[in-house]
Amino acid sequence: MLAHDDHIAVAVSGGKDSLTLLTLLVKMEQRFPRSKITAVSVDEGIDGYRDEALQIAAETCRRLGVDQHVVSYKELFGVTTDDIVQQELGKTPCSYCGVLRRKAINRAAAEIGATKIATAHNLDDEVQTILLNMLHGDPMRIIRSGPILQDRRGRFITRIKPLCDIPEKEIVLYAYLAGLKFQTVACPHGNEALRNDIRSFLNYMEQKHAGIKFTLEKTAERLREQLSATIPPSELHDCKNCGDPTTHRLCEACVMLESINPRPSIDPLTAAFI
Ligand SMILES: [Zn+2]
Repeated sequence: MLAHDDHIAVAVSGGKDSLTLLTLLVKMEQRFPRSKITAVSVDEGIDGYRDEALQIAAETCRRLGVDQHVVSYKELFGVTTDDIVQQELGKTPCSYCGVLRRKAINRAAAEIGATKIATAHNLDDEVQTILLNMLHGDPMRIIRSGPILQDRRGRFITRIKPLCDIPEKEIVLYAYLAGLKFQTVACPHGNEALRNDIRSFLNYMEQKHAGIKFTLEKTAERLREQLSATIPPSELHDCKNCGDPTTHRLCEACVMLESINPRPSIDPLTAAFI
């Protein structure tokens, strides 16, 4: 996943997973003098929730001696998650927030000149997403995800998930044993009904049949290997609005932003990418 001279942008939200990832990578990085770590945090604009998390993230960065780069939805897209929730758009807030967060982290990583983006997805997140994609009828998404997401043409910064083999329970245990302070409150808009059902189902199955989450992850890995060998990489164009690589005329984030009313104005930073 990592080279000895990588500049790693670690996506840090202030939750247990991202603070565990940051702590572990900082420990590892000390052995590689040419490497560098910067924490990138996204302020989605969630009143009474994100401020606390950002403060905890900032404190941890200071303690570990890591620079933190914060970007906000408001400044990048002209809209906050709270604004999006006010509108009834037919999709869950999480589906908007997920796409916009990915774009915001990409922007932040590009701004600091990072060579890798590390996110703190754990085993539970990964296997939930595999089942979610299958139940949404979108199996090709399974192929386009995985522990390392890389474009051989170099159109986007490689994304890695160093904790993807670690069950969530073990991360919680590590965070407590390491004395990490993290945000424990859940997002007030978090309402992914199907993912919640899948989480309960997988936990139930894991209790009855230990190791089933690992098996599901390995199954997806085998599928990825087999299918990616036969399917050519999808053709990438520049998004007509923001210039980011996409398989369509507009990238997913720009399509979403177009659907939000009133249409947010394009800020100078976004305009620079057009
Ligand atoms: Zn776009």
